Parts: sequence; C-alpha cells; structure tokens
Amino acid sequence: LKKSGALEYVGSDFNLADVGGLENLKKWLDKRNRTWMDEAKRYNLPAPKGVMVTGVPGCGKSLIAKAISSMWKLPLLRFDISSVFGVYVGQSEANMRRALQTAEALAPCILWVDEIEKGLGGASGGEGDSGTTRRVFGNFLTWMQEKQALVFVFATANQINRLPPELLRKGRFDEIFFVDLPNIEERKQIFKVHLRRRLTSPEARGEFQETEQILEELATLSDKFIGAEIEDAITNALYEAFFESRAFRLEDLKRIIKNTPRFADMQADYLQS
Ligand code: ATP
Repeated sequence: LKKSGALEYVGSDFNLADVGGLENLKKWLDKRNRTWMDEAKRYNLPAPKGVMVTGVPGCGKSLIAKAISSMWKLPLLRFDISSVFGVYVGQSEANMRRALQTAEALAPCILWVDEIEKGLGGASGGEGDSGTTRRVFGNFLTWMQEKQALVFVFATANQINRLPPELLRKGRFDEIFFVDLPNIEERKQIFKVHLRRRLTSPEARGEFQETEQILEELATLSDKFIGAEIEDAITNALYEAFFESRAFRLEDLKRIIKNTPRFADMQADYLQS
C-alpha cells in the first residue's frame, strides 16, 4: 500500500529528538507507549484511541506524527479524509468504510488524519452536499468511538473553530493538544535540531561551532517564527553558501531571519482585514 484511495503509507525515520518543543505532547505520547505494551493488559487498560493536535500551521504537528510512528515502530497511514467524497450516490460512505477497514486490517497502526476539518468540506459537486458530508463524517466519528482494533488516530487540525463540538467531546480522543508559536526556549531547540541535521559535512559546516550563546541569539532574533520558518532560514543560508562555494555563515542566517516576514503576522493581518 503506497497510495490506495484515501490512504497513503508514510515512511518515516524521524524521532522525538527531531521535534523541538511540544513537551507536553511528547511526554503524553511517551507514557501512552508504555500503556500500550503488554504490561498494561494486566491492569485491564484499554488501548489508546488517539489524540487531536490543533493549532498554528508549520509548528511540528506532521513531524510529531512521523516521530511517533518510528518511536512506536508502527506503520503510519495518512488519511486524506476529503478524498473519500465521490460523485455517485453511496460512493462516499463506501469509500469511508473501505478506508477504515483497510486501516483495521493493518492494525496495529497509526491513522494520521491530516487536517481533519477537510472532512467537513466534502467534495464540490456530486455527493459534496452538506447532508452527505455530515453523514459520512458521522460514520467516522462512530467508528472512532466503537473501534476495537489497535488503530491509534492522530488527528491534526489547523482551524479548531471549524470542528463540530461532537468531535471534541470526551470519548473520541484521549486528549486534545493545542500547539502555539514556539517560545524562545523552543526556538532554541528547533534551531539546534535543524543546524545539526543540516551542517553535517565539513564543507557546509566550515568553522561554525554551535554554542549556547549563538542559539540564544538566534532564538531572540526569530521572535514569532514558526518551526517551518526556522528550518527555511537555515536552508536559505546554506543555499547562499552553496551558490558561492563556501561554508555556512552565521551572518547570513541572522540577516535572513531579520528579513523574513513572519507568517504569524501575515495571518493576523489577514484575519483582521
Ligand atoms: P501544517 O499544519 O501546515 O501541515 P505542521 O504543524 O504539520 O503544519 P510540520 O509539517 O510538522 O508542521 O512542520 C513543517 C516543517 O517545519 C517540518 O518539516 C519541520 O522540519 C519544521 N518544524 C516545524 N515545527 C518544528 C519543531 N517543533 N521542531 C522541529 N522542526 C519543526
């Protein structure tokens, strides 16, 4: 199964050390890992149902889905819920059923429902009317409540205000987490992760030595950055080095950070307009 209908197998070699910040979520997942193990059966504990992770885009929601898949050594299936909607009568229900049956057949696994709010948008034309959308989404909710198979649902949402309250009520997810813009400490960690991931070769690294003071400086400069902007700034500084056939320079990175418009500001302006 690489891509079959609405489900796609996602390979991943990330681990939790590649995710900066999100400490509460990481701790929660780490504990659940243990309850999942055999010893939990002695306590007659149910398998975890899943988590909902919502909040600012580009702050590591997808990254953490990939990290738990490698940490728990379980296959990760990305479920594009909007693609179950078809044009023929009954097609959407059948697609939803098939996707969930496939996930159950592959259990134990992680079902990553990326941008779950898309499941409420339906499709344009055909069965995309709101009645069908509600019914099909309702089928998904019922499945979540009743499922016996070890299919851990990892749902992400960018817009929690678009989600129906019944999705968020107790019994569906074990926990709901809100991911905010990274604070200064978290930005330090994210810089550390990506500088270490990128500056692996001696040509790229040159004389650069990462120190606590440099991380502090970068984190201070990058106020209001999302994780994805930190990664991009490092990549862009490396591009400059690459095009000029020289090593990475901290000065480039600082200049890029200063000149990057913050996605968080753009989003706030857009919401106000
Ligand atoms: P979206 O909702 O837009 O899909 P997301 O919250 O799922 O966003 P990711 O796709 O996980 O965000 O992040 C985008 C990229 O930014 C990642 O590939 C990762 O390299 C980097 N990144 C974001 N947040 C973090 C973080 N907390 N730690 C390390 N890297 C991060």
